[in-house]
Amino acid sequence: MNRNEIWRSYGTDYKNMTKRLLIQSGLAQQLPPAPALIAIKPNLVTPSPACFGGTTHTEVVAGIIETLKELGTYEIVIAEGSWVGDRTSEAFEYCGYQHLARTYGVRLLDTQKEKGFPADCGGETLTVCRCVRDWDFLINVPVLKGHCQTHITCALKNMKGLIPNSEKRRFHSMGLHRPIAHLNTYLKPDYIVIDHICGDLDFEEGGNPVVRNCVMAALDPVLVDAYVCSLLHVPQETVPYIGMAEALGVGSADISQLRLITCEGEPFEDLPERKLLDVSYTVNESESCSACYASLVPALEQLAAEGLLEKLDVSIAIGQGHRGKHGKLGVGNCTMGFETCIRGCPPSEEEIAAGLRKYLQERAFH
Ligand code: SF4
Repeated sequence: MNRNEIWRSYGTDYKNMTKRLLIQSGLAQQLPPAPALIAIKPNLVTPSPACFGGTTHTEVVAGIIETLKELGTYEIVIAEGSWVGDRTSEAFEYCGYQHLARTYGVRLLDTQKEKGFPADCGGETLTVCRCVRDWDFLINVPVLKGHCQTHITCALKNMKGLIPNSEKRRFHSMGLHRPIAHLNTYLKPDYIVIDHICGDLDFEEGGNPVVRNCVMAALDPVLVDAYVCSLLHVPQETVPYIGMAEALGVGSADISQLRLITCEGEPFEDLPERKLLDVSYTVNESESCSACYASLVPALEQLAAEGLLEKLDVSIAIGQGHRGKHGKLGVGNCTMGFETCIRGCPPSEEEIAAGLRKYLQERAFH
C-alpha cells in the first residue's frame, strides 16, 4: 500500500473481511520482524456498544489480531483511554474487549492509569503516556464519525487516547486543533484500519449510527481525515487540525492525489448531510472538554423538541475558559462562578436538560 492510497472492503463478515483487507493491502510488508510488541489503538471513547456508532467493533480488532498471529509471534497489546468522565475499564468490559483479550490472550492497557512524560511534538512539548515508548509498531483503529466540536473525528484525533486525562483537559484549553496536529508528529501510526461500519455522523459517543458496513486501511492519517471530510460533506478548512498536521509534515491533505482501491463488496451511495442542531447562537463555548459539550448538544435538542429552547434569554456558558468568571447561566463545574451553574464534570445530558428546564421554570415564575 502506498501513502496516497486508501483500501476499502464492504460486507458484514467484519472479522474475515478485515483479515482479507489487511493481507491484500500489504500489512505483512510493513510489520517489523518478530518478535516485536505491537499496539492496537481502538476508539473506546465511552462504554457503549459499537452498534451505537461511537466505538470500534471488536470484530475488526479480532481480524487484526488473527492476522498478526498468522504473520508472526508478536506480543500484542490493546491500548486505549476513554474520554474524561468515563472509565476505560468500563469501556473495555461493555464494549467486549475483556472477552476479546481473554479469547486471544492479548493484554489490555488502560492509558488513563499511565503516567506521562514530556515529548517534543514538532516544537510543542506535550505529555504523552509512557507506554508508547515500548511499542515497535502502532495500529490506529479509529471509528469514522462526526464530532460536535471538530466536525469530524477519525485517524488524527484518535491519538488523543494515548495522553493522560490531565493532558486531555489541557488540549481543550489550548484550542484542541493545534495540540492534535502536534501530537501526530510524535505518535505516528504504522498502519491505520478504519471502522466505517456504522459511525455516528454527529456525535463521537454515538447514538445515531449510519450503517456503511465498510472497513478501510491506509498509511497517511492526514489523507484519511481529509477523505473523511469529503465523505461527510465537511469543508476541510473547518477542521483546522488537518491543515496544521499537513504543515507539520505529518501527511498530505491533497485528496486529488488519493487513490481509492475497493477490495471487495460494493460501495454505498454517498453519506447523508449531517443533521446536527446548530447551537452556536445559544452557546458561549470556550475550551470545553468533548464530554461536556457532547452532553450539552443532545440536552439542547431535548429542549428544542419541547419548544423550550427559544425561551432561553441568555447564552449558555461552557468550558474551561469560563473558570473564575461570572455570568448568568453556565454548564459544568468550570462555570461555578455563574449565577446559575448546572454542576458536574462533566454533567450528564439528563442533568443538563433538567437544570435548563428548572432555570426556565424559575424565570417564568418570576
Ligand atoms: S466542567 Fe470543565 S473541566 Fe469538567 S468536563 Fe466540563 S469543561 Fe471539562
